[in-house]
Amino acid sequence: MSVLVVGSVALDTVKTSTGEAAEVLGGSATYCSYAASFFNRVGLISPVGEDMPRKHLDAMAEHNIDTAGLQVVPGGKTFRWTGRYSEDFLERTTESVELNVFGDYDTTVPEAFRDAEYVFLANGAPEAQRAVLEQLDRRKLVFLDTMNLWITEATEALLAVLKQVDGLLLNDEEARLLTGETNLLTAARPKTVIIKKGEHGAVLVSDGRPFVIPAWLTETVNDPTGAGDCFGGGMIGYLKAGQTDFETLKTAASYGTVIASFCIEDFSVARLQTLTLEDIEVRRARFAEMISWD
Ligand code: AMP
Repeated sequence: MSVLVVGSVALDTVKTSTGEAAEVLGGSATYCSYAASFFNRVGLISPVGEDMPRKHLDAMAEHNIDTAGLQVVPGGKTFRWTGRYSEDFLERTTESVELNVFGDYDTTVPEAFRDAEYVFLANGAPEAQRAVLEQLDRRKLVFLDTMNLWITEATEALLAVLKQVDGLLLNDEEARLLTGETNLLTAARPKTVIIKKGEHGAVLVSDGRPFVIPAWLTETVNDPTGAGDCFGGGMIGYLKAGQTDFETLKTAASYGTVIASFCIEDFSVARLQTLTLEDIEVRRARFAEMISWD
């Protein structure tokens, strides 16, 4: 097994100034897996309900994603998230979240995934993230992504799992919540912390060394959902293929940035499905020109 991704597989309803997509494939683990799968085979662990259209799972399987860890819960309903973006895409309002099968699921890691070395704990309940980690004896690098809901509602469980990870990804607002209200980052600061700043790029701090990376100047935005997950998935997917020193982390962040920039061009995973590694390399080369000087 190469990269293991744990998190939500969802049916999203997304409303933006350019359109609306109802009940489309989404979820933190979905976006993350698609992004990582450009570099490596990905094992995905998540529950879905019987209402998850088969075509989505088949499409994942065709995209280098092993879906053996996707549990179809009998009689269950898939996790659902509805979000609306402001006219300029800069603000997002969650209109509804229905955890459904994602609320409490069987976190048993399939035998074939137990030797995973590179793990991405995408946005989800910290308790489930910890339960999965404990079954992975050979883990070399673990990244964790989280969000407000879990920071405020599962603080203790998040603190416990944070102590076992190498990298933490947060957006600005979540970082403030963690450092401000709970001071969790002082109690359990992983080696690498990555603050995602949306259209302003990201800041990576590893062992106290900072690296700042802007976002790609995108011309086409239709749906920003999943950009953060693609950034993380692109990073871990690339890292699996290489080292994890600071310079490699920087390169990984450039891949994460570029994959995220493609993700937001279309709704759901539509753009990721047509994307090729060559497209990624072409844009990354242009990105490098955009941000470097002698
Ligand atoms: P992002 O835009 O990177 O923050 O990720 C958006 C994805 O996260 C959507 O596809 C949602 O289905 C999923 N999501 C929203 N809320 C949660 C949650 N509480 N736990 C796990 N996944 C979530």
